[in-house]
Amino acid sequence: MPLIPLAEAREHVLAHCAPRAPLSVPLAEALGCVLAAPVTAGEPVPPWANSAMDGYAVRAADVAGAGDGSPVALPVVATVAAGAAADTEVGPGQAVRIMTGAPMPPGADAVVKVESTRGGPDATVVEVFEAVPAGRNIRSAGSDIAAGTVVAEAGTLLGPAHLGVLASVGVRRPIVVPRPRLGVISTGDELVDDDRPLAPGQIRESNRPTLVALARSFGIDAVDLGTVADDRKALTAALEGAAATCDAVATSGGVSMGDFDLVKVVLGELADMRWMQVAIRPAKPFAFGVLDGTPVFGLPGNPVSSLVSLSLLGVPGLRRLAGRSDLDLPRVAAVAGPGLGRRPDGRTAFIRVVCRWTDGRLHAHPVSGQSSHQLASAADANALAVVPDGDGVAEGDEVTVVLLSLPAV
Ligand code: AMP
Ligand code: MG
Repeated sequence: MPLIPLAEAREHVLAHCAPRAPLSVPLAEALGCVLAAPVTAGEPVPPWANSAMDGYAVRAADVAGAGDGSPVALPVVATVAAGAAADTEVGPGQAVRIMTGAPMPPGADAVVKVESTRGGPDATVVEVFEAVPAGRNIRSAGSDIAAGTVVAEAGTLLGPAHLGVLASVGVRRPIVVPRPRLGVISTGDELVDDDRPLAPGQIRESNRPTLVALARSFGIDAVDLGTVADDRKALTAALEGAAATCDAVATSGGVSMGDFDLVKVVLGELADMRWMQVAIRPAKPFAFGVLDGTPVFGLPGNPVSSLVSLSLLGVPGLRRLAGRSDLDLPRVAAVAGPGLGRRPDGRTAFIRVVCRWTDGRLHAHPVSGQSSHQLASAADANALAVVPDGDGVAEGDEVTVVLLSLPAV
């Protein structure tokens, strides 16, 4: 089977993944979702002028002569806290004690911060030591958001502060493209799911915890659907069940050239599948297809391969289901450390590296043990260095890295 470029395999995946139907969800569930309809502010934020400081609401003209050595004394006619209505007017020569966020009382046009005064909670007179211009320390109505403003366009990837902005204009159930639910299945007769002693030929299952957590770390709602034996009936039931209950399915194992690679056989019967040999290392075998309308990613079984395959080929498809336009994990430039040499083999190498900020630049150092079964060494990697076919990247040269997580600073 000829090797196909990564970009071609990725395009094939994308061609069969479409954004999920929009849904209104509670704000708490909208983090990381794409907004499906623009949100317009129906009211100004803040809704009325309020104080930016704890202090005294005054008429600026009354304190024009105040200074360090020349305080102006004003009678305090009321106190207004956040949450209270400001119904006492500040007449000429008067002050109202005011807290941050409390509405400006009528008559006042400035706030003197408490640090520039002498008085106290029970004082009937305040001494002001600072002249303030009109408008000082006042947040005017609509100074954050004017009524009628579009606060978030359709297509916005909602971050924490966006959720706060939506809340501030009273939108508690935004209409978003819901996060896709990915069902993860491991396959293989050799796999043991718990800590029982291993019988001859058995190994412990490790792909599901990795793949479920990896997908979740990328903002996908992954669910663990267990391990299925290399058995036609069991595989058929598991795959059909997964396709019926999830928006996408990822299997690991059984898609390469082995005699018992039954996932290949069963998926071939059930779904419209394409089997690929992708020109990358690791993660060469990859299958993708659609089962009853649900995209299925057939990932290789080797632990590092399944991780790389999900990161490079699963993520774009899953992000498209989520309505995102940033389909791929971020790629940035780094300085190559030693050990990024390689031999030509017609494939792009994705070398597991630890990236660190040093001297204001990102430096990529390969982890030891780069075989596709060596998950322990890959566990520390936070990026994949993209090393094109050829002899590798010399130390100190620039290398592109795919970020799996944010590097520590
Ligand atoms: P396969 O793709 O099924 O031929 O598996 C390739 C290699 O990965 C074999 O050595 C399997 O034993 C191993 N493997 C497959 N699935 C898993 C899994 N879920 N956890 C750990 N190792 C696995
Ligand atoms: Mg297998």
